[in-house]
Amino acid sequence: MIIVMERSATEPQMESVVRKIREFGLDVNISRGTERTVIGAIGDERKLEPELFGAMPGVEQAIHIVKPYKIVAREWHPQDTVIDIHGVALGGNTVQVIGGPCSVETQSQMDEAAQQVSEAGCRLMRGGAFKPRSSPYTFQGHGVEGLAMFRQAAEKHRLPIVTELMDVRMLDTFLEYDVDVIQIGTRNMQNFDLLKEVGKVSKPVILKRGMSATISEWLMAAEYIAAGGNHNIIFCERGVRSYETAYRNILDVTAVPVLKKETHLPVIIDPSHAGGKAWMAPALARAAVAAGADGLLIEMHPHPCDAWCDADQALNPQELKALMESLRRIAHAIGREM
Ligand code: PEP
Ligand code: MN
Repeated sequence: MIIVMERSATEPQMESVVRKIREFGLDVNISRGTERTVIGAIGDERKLEPELFGAMPGVEQAIHIVKPYKIVAREWHPQDTVIDIHGVALGGNTVQVIGGPCSVETQSQMDEAAQQVSEAGCRLMRGGAFKPRSSPYTFQGHGVEGLAMFRQAAEKHRLPIVTELMDVRMLDTFLEYDVDVIQIGTRNMQNFDLLKEVGKVSKPVILKRGMSATISEWLMAAEYIAAGGNHNIIFCERGVRSYETAYRNILDVTAVPVLKKETHLPVIIDPSHAGGKAWMAPALARAAVAAGADGLLIEMHPHPCDAWCDADQALNPQELKALMESLRRIAHAIGREM
């Protein structure tokens, strides 16, 4: 971090800044120019925040010179991280598609969905047992019973399961049911206590982007998980809030190349929650693969009209199958497998 002093800064004011930097265990380098004095903090400046200095007399501004995230940064880990999910590699050359319903409804719905997801060529399955709904009066998910149904359905097709964890008190249950990938939803991207807890386990975590989170906030949220020791993190862009009402969210495709530059971790896209309509999902999914996403998280329901949650945006089994075909062609065109 560098602290730029005001032109009129006095020696005692500079000494206070130096003292504060040393209190944090960092060294100091003072550069006296003709107009300004700049004080550099040498060492791990991530402990410091510009606000610590901004309010001190004589300080003009304090600026970070290194990125606030480290473990997730490509700067420190140039090669791509490939996450192994029970033999399914995510983040490598193969684009992976996670398909399945928004929520776990019944055993037969899940059995049917698992078969269709597998037949379409997806290697992982999604389904929510704990649902973050806007209204407390709508279906909230079957909870633990839903995990059991999901496990049973996915087992037959050897599909690893992806499901959302909302409450830290359920983490042990998720481990008991051997959930293969823990999803942290958009509403919990900055639930730091939850992030710290999933940081202590080794299960892969899909970290969805907060609905109005900046890339930097998102990377810092991932850093919370990584700092606990769990480096199996997958970023999932699912659209951000905007003024537009013609679709549910704006899919930020730009986030893909930006994240691929900033982090070595896999990046996937959820076209379903972005557009919010089934007919939009194929176009968004194709854009995602073309932009370099490592995978997709797509909602598919055996009978979309009967879905208990997000019925509008679920593909039917035939649509998923047709989409997989066109995605495969795009993947091949850019030198990837599917
Ligand atoms: C979901 O994947 O079912 C979900 C609730 O997504 P999001 O957190 O992106 O809204
Ligand atoms: Mn949904």
